[in-house]
Amino acid sequence: MLAGAYALHVTAAPLVRQPLTDKLAGFGTTIFAEMSALAVATGAINLGQGFPDTDGPREVLDAAVDAIRSGVNQYPPGPGTPALRHAIADHQRRFYGLEHDPDREVLVTTGATEALAGALLGMLDTGDEVVVFEPMYDSYQACIALAGAVARPVVLRPGVGPEGQYGYDPDELRAAFSARTKLVLVNTPHNPTGKVFTRAELIEIGELASEFDSIVVTDEVYEHLVFSGAEHVPMATLPGMADRTLTISSGGKTFNTTGWKIGWVSGPAPLVDATKTAKQFLTYVSGAPFQPAIAVGLGLPDAFFTGLAADLEAKRDRLVAGLVTAGFTTFTPEATYFTTVDIRPLAPDGDGYAFCRSMPERIGIVAIPNQVFYANQEHGRHLVRFACCKRLEVIDDAVERLARLSS
Ligand code: PMP
Ligand code: GLN
Repeated sequence: MLAGAYALHVTAAPLVRQPLTDKLAGFGTTIFAEMSALAVATGAINLGQGFPDTDGPREVLDAAVDAIRSGVNQYPPGPGTPALRHAIADHQRRFYGLEHDPDREVLVTTGATEALAGALLGMLDTGDEVVVFEPMYDSYQACIALAGAVARPVVLRPGVGPEGQYGYDPDELRAAFSARTKLVLVNTPHNPTGKVFTRAELIEIGELASEFDSIVVTDEVYEHLVFSGAEHVPMATLPGMADRTLTISSGGKTFNTTGWKIGWVSGPAPLVDATKTAKQFLTYVSGAPFQPAIAVGLGLPDAFFTGLAADLEAKRDRLVAGLVTAGFTTFTPEATYFTTVDIRPLAPDGDGYAFCRSMPERIGIVAIPNQVFYANQEHGRHLVRFACCKRLEVIDDAVERLARLSS
């Protein structure tokens, strides 16, 4: 009786304490969640969050269904199922000539997002510095902050490459490195710009990483979505770089299975081990029945991979033409789902966030304001990202709507 009354009294106090850790103050809701919710609420065409609107290869889907039906439904081995680890090692050899021991140098993760979190949380100490290029995929800054580390951003600006590609200032890159640079994080092909880092750029980054004894983490989730004229060069293939490079990729973009969340890392055992040490306490293991299915995908013939890029290139061309016609200054991507535009010819105030919030109502299109991908949001205030990974008829519909912006 007494004990019950006492318990009631104690639990009656409301929670006053701020629940969110200071490390995540200001991160709020991801732009993808916000903009996809806006697309659903308004019925707009969603060219914001990057996900395809068609299914991937039948063999891959069937393999997942077969796995579920044949009892592959319990915890898989921590590092990933052997079939997938072998398929990842085979893929790295087949496409890039890289050799990895599938037992010690490959780890399966819950998407590239967890691979990034595992690598950053597993390797960084408080106060360590990370050289990153801005704009950057939104989870980079959040994971660096969670690790208590400090981002040293280097700006990618359009119009630097010979055909208007995004590039960086080499002096700014050098100045970002110091004795505290534990890690440099490179995303190529790059989201949101569609840039493919050139061999010369990667050599420059690699030389700085060597000079400052930094680890290189590369995010290559768009490795198979590269258009004619560009070549994807994995950092790990550059002479001397394999020993200090951890490579991240994922099945989501390559097999149109963004919802399956099967990713992986490959690289030298000490870097994979550090990532695994964090990963085992984040999710422990990753989607059992999807792993053998992604293994099937990675073993598909070359024609699948070249067809994937060619199909997307046709969609890129259609979307880019529509964006140009609509009146934007458009930066043609060399790879990925994404095209970035400067909105100022149509919106002189250059407020990309406001522009994206108003587009669903104005013309029924959702896009992503690039400012969220920048450490210094001013750098990307006037830029907006559109995704082309949709059926051609959807892109055509979107292009018609975009033309209304200037009418
Ligand atoms: N890195 C980049 C550059 C991305 O664009 C994305 C989004 N797909 C990810 C990582 C996350 O990949 P996943 O969905 O496999 O977690
Ligand atoms: N990578 C995709 C994009 O940039 C989706 C990311 C997400 O939803 N977290 O649009």
